[in-house]
Amino acid sequence: MKPMLELVDVHRTYRIGESTVQALRGVSLTVEQGEFIAIMGSSGSGKSSLLHILGLLDNPDKGEYRILGKDVNILSEDEQAGLRNHLAGFVFQQFHLLKRMSIVDNVRLPHIYSGLKGDFRQEAMKRLAQVGLDKRMDHTPSQLSGGEQQRVAIARALIRDPMIIFADEPTGNLDTKNSREIMKILKGLHDEGKTIIMVTHEPDIAAYADRVLTMCDGVIVTDERKIDVRTLLVQDSTITMEPQLFSPASVWRDGRFAGFMAQAFQSILANKMRSLLSMLGILVGVASVIAMMALGEGAKAAMQEQLKSMGSNMLSIRGGSAKIRGAAQGAGAVTRLTFADVDALAKLRPLVKNAAGVVNGSGQIVYGNNNWNSSVLGVSYDYGTMRAVLPSIGRWFASEEIQRREKSAIIGVTVVKELFGNSNPIGKTIKINRINFNVIGVAPAKGFSGPQDEDDVVIIPVTTAMYRLLGRDYLSGIFVEVREASQMSEAKEAISKLIRQKHKLKRGDDSFNIRDMTEIQKMLSSTTQTMSLLLGSIAAISLLVGGIGIMNIMLVSVTERTREIGLRKAIGARKSDIMLQFLVESVGMTISGGFIGVLTGIGISLILSLFAGWAVKTSLVAVVLATTFSVLTGVFFGLWPARKAAELKPVEALRHE
Ligand code: ADP
Ligand code: MG
Repeated sequence: MKPMLELVDVHRTYRIGESTVQALRGVSLTVEQGEFIAIMGSSGSGKSSLLHILGLLDNPDKGEYRILGKDVNILSEDEQAGLRNHLAGFVFQQFHLLKRMSIVDNVRLPHIYSGLKGDFRQEAMKRLAQVGLDKRMDHTPSQLSGGEQQRVAIARALIRDPMIIFADEPTGNLDTKNSREIMKILKGLHDEGKTIIMVTHEPDIAAYADRVLTMCDGVIVTDERKIDVRTLLVQDSTITMEPQLFSPASVWRDGRFAGFMAQAFQSILANKMRSLLSMLGILVGVASVIAMMALGEGAKAAMQEQLKSMGSNMLSIRGGSAKIRGAAQGAGAVTRLTFADVDALAKLRPLVKNAAGVVNGSGQIVYGNNNWNSSVLGVSYDYGTMRAVLPSIGRWFASEEIQRREKSAIIGVTVVKELFGNSNPIGKTIKINRINFNVIGVAPAKGFSGPQDEDDVVIIPVTTAMYRLLGRDYLSGIFVEVREASQMSEAKEAISKLIRQKHKLKRGDDSFNIRDMTEIQKMLSSTTQTMSLLLGSIAAISLLVGGIGIMNIMLVSVTERTREIGLRKAIGARKSDIMLQFLVESVGMTISGGFIGVLTGIGISLILSLFAGWAVKTSLVAVVLATTFSVLTGVFFGLWPARKAAELKPVEALRHE
């Protein structure tokens, strides 16, 4: 029959810079199931080193270690972690309880890493009852005496029902009375059949054991048994090294992840002030992303509204006298645009969508006793849709009205105010230069374009304007709507060519001009783009700064909790478990910061729109973007500290001061 544990010529050398310490120099040992072994020896003789190797917390540099005949030194770090969780329970001199958790949570902690489902509270209670502490389950370790804390540690070592309990000076920090109690518990466990390997330097503690090893300078010098080992061998071993004992369980399936979530929030809450301060960076970053994007979007929407009111893809062609080198020429060189030009331009399909001729003039407008001088605009039928001036009150001209040169007028809001005050102008008769016009509509408000009040206008049919009111037989200009914004310059060229042809203009004669309204549009949209970019980069910088803050806190947290990491590894945490735990914590922090940031950002946008009157538009995109960003920040900046934590060796982490 194979021995339970078997060490053959094991060496362990520690390197500290240049110097080396040979802690173990050729230890061979077999341990049978059901033995109670005390390892004695003076301080520095290698007792703990031996125990760590037996408990798989450390690996030998040289020599073999077999558990139930299986070579365990060739196992990976994670497989060894799995074995520790299933086969070993640890009791340390310093207890190594997690201070922030209740003792019942401390006791069931190894179960997180077991791959088994369930909360194991009942199980933990049972183990606490076994050490006489079930009444204190909700207390934290700091509320317990040293002896009680060590009893909790024993309960924790028992929760996975391990085959071996490793105890490193379990009574080293306790007084005689408490020591005796702890030893009574250990003795009881041995009587139930547990194998116990205990390090101590006190002979009266070692007296509880059946077998005492004495070490000196890294070798075992004596090995005394009080009872015949063959009586132990009679006990039939039911323990086997099943492969699933150290198979990596799924983090998601066995509920480990939920456990990490709970612990992460516990740890965030335990350091409220610190967490809040480090969250603040993310909070400010996310809030500024939301608020600034809302501002940018609002400005864009307002801009678009304004652009729409100008009509889109618009070209304006104006006739006039030719200018050669800037000086106006005589009356002979004048291009007079006519309806024939409008028709010809409208036929430039598909480049041109619509064309409308206009006549500009001014007139004295009279209604009752009120008198107002305003600009008069004669328009053709399509002008209404092209320039977005279809009345919101009243109606646009019918095409027959334009053909029949009827005296209908649509007036701007400034004219309404000056002539009608608060009364309804629709259906009233006004005089324009002493001719009666019927008011059929009010043009939508446009505001100012430069110094020009766009609402101080009277719109009438172009024919009426030319032949009845202003006495002209040519147009002041033609508006052309181009089909696609990308075709503007192409359209300009085609129009220019057509007009030159029709009016037989010589080369260099530019007695007309074509103006492009997209220039204004471009300027406006590039302004909004610059603004969005500027706001966006401010937000990005705050997110970056926030992320660095989180990283800093996580690094502090890793250092501060090195011993906790060591303990978790000792009870079976794999690298990925430790990594995930710290990642969940940093992401939890950034998500909470991000969430409060989203709310703050929306609040700021509301305040800006309410009190400053700024146009804001909170978009779902911004919220999703900011949240995603805060999660990514958490992962990105948490990754390094999490890796750092996961890389720690269990013994070194446990030794950390
Ligand atoms: P004991 O438990 O018997 O007091 P240890 O096994 O802890 O002794 O240590 C044996 C020797 O190895 C000591 O000289 C100690 O200083 C050294 N040692 C133990 N662990 C380390 C380590 N991580 N790095 C360097 N030296 C170590
Ligand atoms: Mg020691």
